[in-house]
Amino acid sequence: MNILFMGPPGAGKGTQAERIVDQFGIPHISTGDAFRLAIKQGTPIGKKAKEYIDQGLLVPDEVTNGIVRERIAEPDCANGFLLDGFPRTIAQAEALDGMLAEMDRKIDHVINLKVDPGFLLARITGRLICRTCGAAYHVVNNPPKQEGICDKDGGELYQRPDDTEDKVATRLDEYTSKTAPLLAYYGAKGSLREVDGEKDIDEVTADIASLLRG
Ligand SMILES: [Zn+2]
Repeated sequence: MNILFMGPPGAGKGTQAERIVDQFGIPHISTGDAFRLAIKQGTPIGKKAKEYIDQGLLVPDEVTNGIVRERIAEPDCANGFLLDGFPRTIAQAEALDGMLAEMDRKIDHVINLKVDPGFLLARITGRLICRTCGAAYHVVNNPPKQEGICDKDGGELYQRPDDTEDKVATRLDEYTSKTAPLLAYYGAKGSLREVDGEKDIDEVTADIASLLRG
C-alpha cells in the first residue's frame, strides 16, 4: 500500500505517520531522511544532492525526484511506503506518478489531516516551554499549576518566537496556498481521503487505519 500524508504544521502528522507505519509494517519516508541516506551511501544522485546542499543552493526537482525514486526502489518498500513531505508541487506529483507507473505501482491513498486554521492557531500559540527543563505546557489544554512557572522545577515558562500568532498565521497561509493545488490534483484522481485531525490522537489513528483497510 503506497500512501501519501498531508496536513498543516501542528496537525500531528508526524505522530500519526509513525503510528500508521507501525501498524502496517511499511517504511516511513521523509524526504529529509531519504536525502541523508543517499548522501551517506554516496550514490550518484546523493553526490549531486550534496553539491547543491554544500553550496547552500536550492536542490532542483530532478535531483529531489531522483532521491525519492531511489528510496522507493529499495527492497523495504516492496509492500508499500508512507511518503511524507513530498510531493510539494504539481510538477513533483506528476514526476512521482511517472516513476511509480514505471514500477507498475501507484499512490493508493492520500491522507489529508484536516484541521481548522483557528484550531491550529489556538493549539500552537498556547504552547509554553520551560526554560530550564524544556517541558511543554498549554495555556488551555495543559496549564501549569502556577501561571508562568514549571510544575517540575519552578523554571520560567516562555513562548517560542516561532509560535506567535503572526508567525503561525503566516505558516498556515503558506501551507494552504501551496497544498491547495495538490489536494485538487489527488482529489481529481480519486485517491484523496480526508481525515478529521481535530479529534483525539487515538481516534485519528483509528480513523486513518480504517480508511486504509477500506
Ligand atoms: Zn521545567
